[in-house]
Amino acid sequence: MRERARHVEAIMRALARAIDGLELPAVEKISQKQEDDPFQVLIATLLSARTQDATTFAASTRLFAVACTPETMAALPVKRIERLIYPVSFYRHKARHVRATCRILVEKFGGRVPGTMEELLTLPGVGRKTANLVLILSFKSHRNICVDTHVHRISNRLGWVRTRTPEETEQSLYTSTASRWWPYLNLYLVTWGQHVCRPISPRCSGCALAEWCPRVGVSRTARVSPPNAGARVAV
Ligand code: SF4
Repeated sequence: MRERARHVEAIMRALARAIDGLELPAVEKISQKQEDDPFQVLIATLLSARTQDATTFAASTRLFAVACTPETMAALPVKRIERLIYPVSFYRHKARHVRATCRILVEKFGGRVPGTMEELLTLPGVGRKTANLVLILSFKSHRNICVDTHVHRISNRLGWVRTRTPEETEQSLYTSTASRWWPYLNLYLVTWGQHVCRPISPRCSGCALAEWCPRVGVSRTARVSPPNAGARVAV
């Protein structure tokens, strides 16, 4: 166990240095720009599923320019929300969830985003990934880990977990990593996954983690490894 703790420590410290200067994930940027406003973090995370990061950021910015509170967003017609968030994937579906969520926030939570996992999971379209990210970014929780497919994939490649789903990975990471790293796992691994440890053909050559990484399940790697090129997809 001590060996695992040292492995996690070495990699997280290396990542803290390696991601410096790389573009942040869209929701992190929105969170920083809006001083961690839980409402905007919640809505941007809802929009981000299976959507390229640049598209999420642009759509969130358009939507928040028109309505940036649960009250004003709940008053928008679904068609208007659809037009504002297009072309995020499943934009019709997400527009309905966004408005329904805003209505519940107004009617049930006094226009505020609730600060517990149980309450967040009652909102339409909100799963553990979204709830964990809101709790980490906006409520400064040190008891949650947000696992998307980047975190799931890289945790398995690094040998920290052996899991089949992001849900299993979240639970496994609570026991395989020290709690001091939990608030940072998403930021570090998503940034690395978008730029270097990509889903297909990771850029292992020249990767800052190469000396510690067993590359579990990696069968093909990219020939070049520029750290700041390529499309970025939030998941
Ligand atoms: S060495 Fe390869 S598999 Fe390991 S973290 Fe780096 S890019 Fe990912």
